[in-house]
Amino acid sequence: LASRDFHPENTVINIGDVKIGGGDLVVMGGPCAVESPEQIDEIARLVKAAGGQVLRGGAFKPRTGPYSFQGVGVEGLVMMAEAGKKHDLLTITEVMTPEYVDVCAEYADILQVGTRNMQNFDLLRKLGTCGKPVLLKRGFSSTYDEFLNAAEYILAGGNPNVMLCERGIRTFETYTRNTLDLSAIPVLQNLSHLPVISDPSHGTGRRELVEPMTKASVAAGADGLIIEMHTDPDNSMTGDGVQSLFPDQFAALLQDLEKLAPLV
Ligand code: PEP
Ligand code: MN
Repeated sequence: LASRDFHPENTVINIGDVKIGGGDLVVMGGPCAVESPEQIDEIARLVKAAGGQVLRGGAFKPRTGPYSFQGVGVEGLVMMAEAGKKHDLLTITEVMTPEYVDVCAEYADILQVGTRNMQNFDLLRKLGTCGKPVLLKRGFSSTYDEFLNAAEYILAGGNPNVMLCERGIRTFETYTRNTLDLSAIPVLQNLSHLPVISDPSHGTGRRELVEPMTKASVAAGADGLIIEMHTDPDNSMTGDGVQSLFPDQFAALLQDLEKLAPLV
């Protein structure tokens, strides 16, 4: 079902008046984690003002260590839904377990599967019937074939609205947190009809690389971007402040993108 051989036309995902995969560039921006109502409200305002269409933010965080901040949970879903509604933005949030799919689908417009859960097959099966579009991140050590098979689980369950997200893979290089695989963008678009989104934030792990890798992703044909932005990155509650743009950088980047590709 994910293969272009069986579905030659590009899949276009319509959510409200935003079209993903239809030729216009979609930008999802926001913090790694939802921290407080004030934080997410202010960031939503800035994402909207910059021209973004989707507010990102994790209420459930998949942390490497069990003692690290794990996200604010369901309350964060409520905070983000309110901020999205108030500022006229769609919302995307990560769901980590099948048990939480229903509540995440109740509050968010798009559900994100994180890199560590790309092959959580029970979660993928459950997302097949969740009724909401899914952004599936590539496992950081997964091949294209494994990635497309993971998407296949969601599609086979009856949900045609799947986006593929390249978020960097693990290589021998340690300067960057991951190596953003730009080739994935045209490769996945050749192999599949699903929209392809690039995540230059997790793909590099370094703020100064987000701008060039965003532009490179657009040049490579990405259908959209998911970018971390924080009003106070140095004091963010996850370690991802180091890769989060300041609001003025985010706004300047989107201005530049307008010149490369029309925003929805
Ligand atoms: C995130 O989007 O904040 C995240 C945890 O992403 P990934 O699953 O790509 O690490
Ligand atoms: Mn993050």
